[in-house]
Amino acid sequence: MICKSFDVISSRLKVILLALSAILFGLAHADTLPISDAHLHYSHDSVEMTPPARVIEIMREANLKMALVSSSDDKGTQLLLDLAPDLIVPGLRPYTRRGELGTWYQDQANLDYVEDLLSNHQYATIGEFHLYGETADLEIPKRIVELAAEHNLILHAHSDADAVESLLAQDSNVKVLWAHAGFDEPEFVSAMLSKHDRLWVDLAFRGEVGSGGQLSDEWLALFKAHPSRIMLGTDTYTPERMYYIPAHAEGARVWLDTLPEDLAEKIAWKNAYDLIMPVWKQNSAMLESSATSVACNETDASALAIDDQSTAILQPDREIEVGEAFSVKLTVCGQDMDSAEVALDATMPVHGHGMNYTPEQTVIDQNPDVVTVQFDGLRLHMPGKWQWQVTVRRDGERVQVSEEFQLN
Ligand SMILES: [Zn+2]
Repeated sequence: MICKSFDVISSRLKVILLALSAILFGLAHADTLPISDAHLHYSHDSVEMTPPARVIEIMREANLKMALVSSSDDKGTQLLLDLAPDLIVPGLRPYTRRGELGTWYQDQANLDYVEDLLSNHQYATIGEFHLYGETADLEIPKRIVELAAEHNLILHAHSDADAVESLLAQDSNVKVLWAHAGFDEPEFVSAMLSKHDRLWVDLAFRGEVGSGGQLSDEWLALFKAHPSRIMLGTDTYTPERMYYIPAHAEGARVWLDTLPEDLAEKIAWKNAYDLIMPVWKQNSAMLESSATSVACNETDASALAIDDQSTAILQPDREIEVGEAFSVKLTVCGQDMDSAEVALDATMPVHGHGMNYTPEQTVIDQNPDVVTVQFDGLRLHMPGKWQWQVTVRRDGERVQVSEEFQLN
């Protein structure tokens, strides 16, 4: 059935890669400041009220670039992560149900629950948890800090300053994201950030920041003193607040617009991205090396047909931007994949040239049913019409398929 040296130009194919459609969707928002939302929950009651696909839609509407989600009972977080791995960064909330925030730090069951989740999933943060004053030095919180250090996790603490300082003192490497900037005054927050270089703050549920579209002198002074330590968050602690994510992003953009552009970008998305994404990349890479993340026996609407028996799935690790390095994971499902060689290239058909860079390539998984290769250091140097080219060589046969996409 398969001819030797068989080139299929797949622009005829109606199937568009899920990942590419996410990128194209992103382009529709090209003029809207992206937001990293570092304080989201999708707990059991939210899951009942709003399906995960709708939640992702809401987040895309808000032009979120990254969403740090932690949920009581964790299932909501995993549902979102499965649907949008390019967007969702999972946090481990140590609560199984709503209403454990005043008891969890004395309940062995919560610690067991945390350890169980850590043995089955990867996360970037542990939290958001609630701890005040001396409770941070109880046995269970101490163990949480140890686990954070062991598993490369940032602590996301809804705490007063005393508890934050106890957490930081327990381990000399652990980082703390201080939820709601402690509900403290900007001047005090500024002093805390000056005192502790492993401390960051989110502004979730701080409606007074930029209310009426204007920043007070006190908040402005904090932002200028610590331009790289402050990030945004909606705090969807009740189910109906999921629908508030776009309005929150839009409201933040109004006062962000009064700031110098580089400071606005930092607070809008870069600070959260720079703090949390490297941690998540490192932790999730451990997950990928132990399991194939694409299940070949499931029909995947984003899959690109190579031939009757094989399909390819391309997963960029982020929204592709001109001149910026990114990675793509290419998974090819089919038969005799243990002897297959796969290659990925991006070309500009109109200009007759490709990338100026040769990506580094690492085989993550290879067996008779699947081969997964990670391509790092990809970079598209100009906007325009691009084309992915996937080449599979197997049993002396070479099959190439391509898929066009627009980069603006
Ligand atoms: Zn909170």
